[in-house]
Amino acid sequence: PPLYEQRYEFVKSYINTYRPKKVADLGCSECSLLHRLKFLDFIEELVGVDIDEDVLKLKGYILTPLPIHYLEPLERALTVTLYQGSVSEKDPALLGFDLITCIELIEHLEADILEKFQNVLFGFMAPRAVVISTPNVEFNVLLSEKTGFRHPDHKFEWDRKEFQNWAMNISRQYNYTAEFSGVGEAESEDKDVGYCSQIAIFRKNYTESVESMNIKKNYRSVYKRILHVVY
Ligand code: SAM
Repeated sequence: PPLYEQRYEFVKSYINTYRPKKVADLGCSECSLLHRLKFLDFIEELVGVDIDEDVLKLKGYILTPLPIHYLEPLERALTVTLYQGSVSEKDPALLGFDLITCIELIEHLEADILEKFQNVLFGFMAPRAVVISTPNVEFNVLLSEKTGFRHPDHKFEWDRKEFQNWAMNISRQYNYTAEFSGVGEAESEDKDVGYCSQIAIFRKNYTESVESMNIKKNYRSVYKRILHVVY
């Protein structure tokens, strides 16, 4: 399967193992991952965030119910909401999640935005688990002759050490535990370049107090709601 499909499958298998009820996808773009998660029967709330309002308006319809869903309602309540907003901003709509995924998002963020995003994701949203994927630049030698980043919009591409250092520092700072994996393997005869997409899985080591949660819930909302459906 293509690499993007392997990334979605990775998330899906994680989700099937841990069975989170509330899942958000940051930088959801065309909502392809959310679409694949829609009918996992233990999920009760799905949220997507992207800074690009046009892509959400153009592609968000794939998350709306079909006539069949009104004839045969799901056994449990499922709400799906899309927001236009920047992941560098705090919005109480993203509080209390079991899992937040960021698939090929961080390499699109300028250094100052990345810095804010880390704090927003791990300090404010503080979900129970986080999955972050990003290109592994060490793999690029196998991709083609051309040099440079894989995509013109990438602000950086990290090697395994850079990504793992970044993730370990965050884990220490925000009291999470990180593990590393990836998708897209090199052919066996190639030297050890790691996965094509590297992935960090973070799990929160603490339970937030009700007081701290209530303070955050009172933050002013800044995201713009683009789609909201209840199945
Ligand atoms: N996650 C998608 C997937 O797996 O199919 C692809 C992500 S795409 C490579 C990167 C996305 O990040 C784009 O849709 C872009 O609009 C979004 N993005 C970039 N900067 C952002 C920001 N500050 N806040 C929210 N989304 C942002």
